[in-house]
Amino acid sequence: VICGQSKAYDCDLIVIGGGSGGLACSKEAAALGKKVMVLDYVVPTPKGTTWGLGGTCVNVGCIPKKLMHQTALLGTAVEDARKFGWEFSDQVTHNWETMRTAVNNYIGSLNWGYRVSLRDKNVNYVNAYAEFVEPHKIKATNKRGKEMFYTAAKFVLATGERPRHLGIPGDKEYCITSDDLFSLPYCPRKTLVVGASYVALECGGFLAGLGLDVTVMVRSILLRGFDQDMANRAGDHMETHGVKFLRKFVPTKIEQLEAGTPGRLKVTAKSTETKLHSNKQGVYRYE
Ligand SMILES: Cc1cc2nc3c(=O)[nH]c(=O)nc-3n(C[C@H](O)[C@H](O)[C@H](O)COP(=O)(O)OP(=O)(O)OC[C@H]3O[C@@H](n4cnc5c(N)ncnc54)[C@H](O)[C@@H]3O)c2cc1C
Repeated sequence: VICGQSKAYDCDLIVIGGGSGGLACSKEAAALGKKVMVLDYVVPTPKGTTWGLGGTCVNVGCIPKKLMHQTALLGTAVEDARKFGWEFSDQVTHNWETMRTAVNNYIGSLNWGYRVSLRDKNVNYVNAYAEFVEPHKIKATNKRGKEMFYTAAKFVLATGERPRHLGIPGDKEYCITSDDLFSLPYCPRKTLVVGASYVALECGGFLAGLGLDVTVMVRSILLRGFDQDMANRAGDHMETHGVKFLRKFVPTKIEQLEAGTPGRLKVTAKSTETKLHSNKQGVYRYE
């Protein structure tokens, strides 16, 4: 018996996924006297990026996003400061590696805090990938490939979502997703953001705020599912802050022109209305 005294099963409850949903659920169930296990495992991105306990929000979502957004705001504040009398002679530049280290250290402290709080609340945390093998039984595979089997009366699936790759040539080899961006060891420099969800716009926004040349490629509309008056206001605001939008285009192919960090990529895109060729990243011409 791993975590429970249930006669029929190892646990009363097994939660699959240690993100915001899974952690809250497992701690609550344990507080109500249930024997609980939570399994969390991060399948590395095609670039090999992985992270600790806490799921998307903590590691590759809300938290690092807001820290990087705040970094961009600080840059704006420095510029505004001059207008309001602050005098400093040094030119202000931004160091990506320093930001990345600070963000990742902060995330690391949260990962640790979550582990401690699970232990304090008597939730058994297992860092392994869960798959059902029977209705009340899962197989848990850890990062060394070791398999364990656990049973429970009830299960909660809190596995969240991951970014989708584009499904075009070169996507997995050369593109990164938000899952890679927050721990990217080097500044991405000139960037094409593909998509216009809130994740795309927020990432494009803070990258531009750090002074990078950013273009957002939009298939149809900004922020589908959101109020379109507000969505377009957000887009207009971004445009006045230097973000370029390439509307009604979808990428069809990504090629590497130059290896490196970041190197140079060529993106071929097609119009959803007319045909298009591209020459280099972010520069397009119509046929
Ligand atoms: C860039 C970005 C910014 C965001 N900003 C905000 C914001 O400002 N405000 C906001 O409210 N929301 C924001 N979100 C959304 C928020 O992060 C998610 O809604 C939230 O994290 C979902 O929590 P979850 O518990 O459902 O899933 P997740 O946090 O994704 O957790 C699921 C966990 O389960 C693991 N897992 C999956 N399958 C298995 C398996 N078979 N076995 C073991 N483990 C498994 C996953 O690796 C992951 O760790 C943002 C998201 C992104 C990507």
